[in-house]
Amino acid sequence: MDATVLREAVASLYADTPDAVVLYDCAGLVIAANEAAQFLTGFTASEFIGASFETHVASRDLDRINLALRTALAGGTDHFDTSAKHKDGTIIPVECYVFPARFNDEIVGIFAQARDIVALRSAEHSLTINQEKFRSLFEYHPDGIMEIKGNGTISRVNVALESETGFYGEQLVGKRWTELVAPELRNDVEELLRSAMRGEATEADSLLLDRLGNRIDVQLKLVPLHVGEEILGAYAIFKNVNAQKNAERAIAAHGEQLRRLYMVAASRGATLDDQIDATLQLGVEVFDWDQAYVTHVEGDRVTVHNVYGSGAITKGAMYPLASGVTSHLARGRNPLYIEDMESEEWRNDSARTMAPWRSYLAVSLMVFDQFYGGLVFASRTPRTQALTSNERDMVQLMGLFISTALERAAQNERIEQLAFNDSLTGLPNRVLFNDRIEQTIATARRYERGFAVMYVDVDKFKHINDSFGHTAGDDVLKEVAARLRAATRESDTLARFGGDEFVILQPIVDGPSDAADLARKLNVAMQEPVVVEGVEHTVHVSMGIALYPSDAETIDGLMEASDRALYRAKKQGRNRWCFANADVARRELKAPASRRRAAE
Ligand code: GH3
Ligand code: MG
Repeated sequence: MDATVLREAVASLYADTPDAVVLYDCAGLVIAANEAAQFLTGFTASEFIGASFETHVASRDLDRINLALRTALAGGTDHFDTSAKHKDGTIIPVECYVFPARFNDEIVGIFAQARDIVALRSAEHSLTINQEKFRSLFEYHPDGIMEIKGNGTISRVNVALESETGFYGEQLVGKRWTELVAPELRNDVEELLRSAMRGEATEADSLLLDRLGNRIDVQLKLVPLHVGEEILGAYAIFKNVNAQKNAERAIAAHGEQLRRLYMVAASRGATLDDQIDATLQLGVEVFDWDQAYVTHVEGDRVTVHNVYGSGAITKGAMYPLASGVTSHLARGRNPLYIEDMESEEWRNDSARTMAPWRSYLAVSLMVFDQFYGGLVFASRTPRTQALTSNERDMVQLMGLFISTALERAAQNERIEQLAFNDSLTGLPNRVLFNDRIEQTIATARRYERGFAVMYVDVDKFKHINDSFGHTAGDDVLKEVAARLRAATRESDTLARFGGDEFVILQPIVDGPSDAADLARKLNVAMQEPVVVEGVEHTVHVSMGIALYPSDAETIDGLMEASDRALYRAKKQGRNRWCFANADVARRELKAPASRRRAAE
């Protein structure tokens, strides 16, 4: 080939190469620069010619370029990354070759060929960064992740999945991914993988199995693994929701406990004891204690009112306040939680001698703002865990509920007392008496039995009032009430009808003599003088007796009959009794002399 043609071809190589090519003389001044060099740096050909290499390389790289130039002048070739400097000051990273320009075997100059590597580098760089980012996303993601092939075998797992399941990655790779899912859910998750292979991302609640076969509540997400147009498999992401599920279960359980407590609270038909017992039962079951009980403090004594569960404490037990845990409640330690009575703190506590309990949970019961006692849960075994807020809330709620029930019962009792009892003597009043006599009539009718109604009136009571004042009169009435009460039986009803009138209901009498025996007893009871503020009063009573069914069969009839008899007793001289039916009285007269005397 013609040498001229060759020269042209070589020149076109210089002109048309996409790389910047600059020819320097031996002093480093530009002899020629191709178009690519002009484009890279922004300098025109005329600006280039005669300029020093220092005008278009980065100042920080001058030493490196000097070295390269010297290498070339010495006949060597250099290849390195450096930076060109654009006319506007911009630094452009370049990959650079520096080599000698020879003419007749003599080095006459230096060629520098530079390729802009910004685009190339940034593409490479971002790929590396993305790979790094992805790797760290996969490896350090807090959720367990496995990469699954289209056929369902595991190709890679991350650290979280290893620690979640207790398997090493090597043990899992190659296995079927469904082996780590609870057997009953395997079909479902296979379906999820098929969806993922069709390009759909799916999710479901699932159960991951660990190395020991334990089930872990997870939220499973399946994401298709796209490479280009193809789907090669999927990522399965297992988010551990055990804590969340446990919390949900705890909330549900707490809700259930609250519901049961409110059910107990709402059962208004039940008695106070039933309600308290049901609450104790709930506490024992829910918190797994051995025994629960309610204590009541009066002075320095504690009485156990209600008990549920098995253990040392019995209903009705009484013990000194100082020897039970209630004393700590009384001193304001509320709630009281003792994990272990054998611990340093409690070993010498006086409550240790009372019962064999190792642990306690107790709250104060306040009734009408007064310390009433405690709701106590006790266990034979020590507790190893701190009180949970759930336990604390529940036991406080139970305490509040029992306090309220006790208050309500006390209030009802008070209302009942006011409605059915006489305020001076505390005896039943006419209302309560009527109720009792009604029941007595019904029973007597059913069993064909007799009973007696006895009207009692203090003799010459006005005189006491007039001579010693109303207050002294009240005190005398109280004493009369007490003596009558003492002389009657528990089963008898003694009522005050107002003024100095009392009525006694003797619910079972075999004949007139039973009633006469009581009348005699009352008579005797009033023989001793009544002493009020040092003054002795002779207080006698007169009595009228009506018998069911012979005298009357109705309340009114019986009251009338006994009142009539009383009138006769007064008329006959007081301090005696009369039967409504005079024949009965006559029969009584035939009774032994000892009996008769008082009647005469
Ligand atoms: P008799 O022997 O006929 O029964 O004569 P008496 O003076 O007891 O007369 P009566 O039973 O009729 O009178 C009862 C008196 O008791 C009338 C009233 O002044 C008085 N009294 C009524 N209620 C009370 C009370 O709550 N306290 C006091 N201290 N006196 C009362
Ligand atoms: Mg009287």
